[in-house]
Amino acid sequence: MEPEALALTLPIRRLVEFLLRTGSIDSRFTGFDRALEGARLHRKLQRAAVKEYPDYQAEATLKQDYACAQITYTLEGRADGIFTDTDGMPTIDEIKTTTLPPELITGEQSPEHWAQAQIYAAIYARQNGLPAMRVRLTYFQVDEELEFRFSHDYTADALDAVVTDLLTQYAPWAKRAAEWQRISRASLAALQFPFPGYRPGQRAMIGAVYKICTEGGQLLCQAPTGIGKTMSVLFPALKAVKQGGPVFYLTARGTTRAAAENALALLRASDADLKLRSVTLTAKDKICMQDRRECTPEACPYAKGYYDRVRTALWDALDTHALTADALQMLARRHKVCPFELGLDLSLWCDVVIGDYNYLFDPVVHLERFFDTAGDYLFLLDEAHNLPDRARGMHSAVLAKSAFYDAKKRLGKGKSSLKNALTKVNDIFIEWRHRCEEAPGDSRFGRTFFEKSRADALD
Ligand code: SF4
Repeated sequence: MEPEALALTLPIRRLVEFLLRTGSIDSRFTGFDRALEGARLHRKLQRAAVKEYPDYQAEATLKQDYACAQITYTLEGRADGIFTDTDGMPTIDEIKTTTLPPELITGEQSPEHWAQAQIYAAIYARQNGLPAMRVRLTYFQVDEELEFRFSHDYTADALDAVVTDLLTQYAPWAKRAAEWQRISRASLAALQFPFPGYRPGQRAMIGAVYKICTEGGQLLCQAPTGIGKTMSVLFPALKAVKQGGPVFYLTARGTTRAAAENALALLRASDADLKLRSVTLTAKDKICMQDRRECTPEACPYAKGYYDRVRTALWDALDTHALTADALQMLARRHKVCPFELGLDLSLWCDVVIGDYNYLFDPVVHLERFFDTAGDYLFLLDEAHNLPDRARGMHSAVLAKSAFYDAKKRLGKGKSSLKNALTKVNDIFIEWRHRCEEAPGDSRFGRTFFEKSRADALD
């Protein structure tokens, strides 16, 4: 019998980062503020490029099928820019913002950046019948505000060879993912409700959740304690997930994440043939295995060389089906990789992702790897009444007096203009606190702010 043909849609950036990223985790050169700043700088550089090259096309979507190693891949992505260079050469521009010191920006420090742009160029050349293309990497060093440009010209054949080589390297992973998808979905189709009967109201809830998961839309469930809500949403969602996924089970509290883990454990115990891989994303501070969390290669052995070892760790981890915090730490120790990052990397290979609301809703820490491209996901939100408060927290800026006071203290003795500025801000906070104390009934000043100010004063 002919083996079933495999088809896989793959974001180009995910492919190249997965295969080619090497080196260490280094929190000095990453971070959420940096990511937001990077997006803003991208737009600024693109606006400048439009003035320099009249045909500069920013954010050009590219998509192309490639057949390789008995797999049909649909590669898709968005080039930062496509334009005609001054000598008439069609060019792909890939922009990267970086905090690397300028002397380390050689153009060769990140092979995955070249590969990403080369794949865009291969697709564009193929679709437009071009014999050759130029690939340009534009680096913007954010602290020094310096721009660096590096270019190479390639024939269309050379670009195609790059794509084929990468897809060949990825083939074992694609086959493993496809095989898992096949057996997992078959086992979910055969899965039975794990209890002999339903509690009052449970059957109706399961039916409503199943319907919304198959047809799409939103459903708000309100049910009394004891009905078995966790199982009543997880079971029908798993029955409904066909080709897409994963199912995200998102909560406000750690205890309710444990309830989801327990429900999955019960399903696994009730059906020995069930193939279901889940990961629990735990806050970095909680899952970190170091006494002090400092995510740099100098301070943390799990950060040093993370990207050199993570593929071996992932291949091994895929044999574990319940990737709880304990399981992640065990795997992390075995392969000397950060358990937090390993959990995130594994989430792409799981049928269920359990975690905090943040991973979906927070504009700064949401899971880019899922939500920056379109996907077919199911979201189960536990205790949704917590969402308004959490949303307020996610979308509100916080300015604390203690940060200014601490910074001033760290500057030590002696005078400086920075110290003067910090003192002024600290004084303004004190003045506001006095005003709050004089007008405690004034609704403009929240109780939390008032108490926080008091705590600062006691420090
Ligand atoms: S183990 Fe802890 S310190 Fe090390 S990279 Fe992970 S979170 Fe950071």
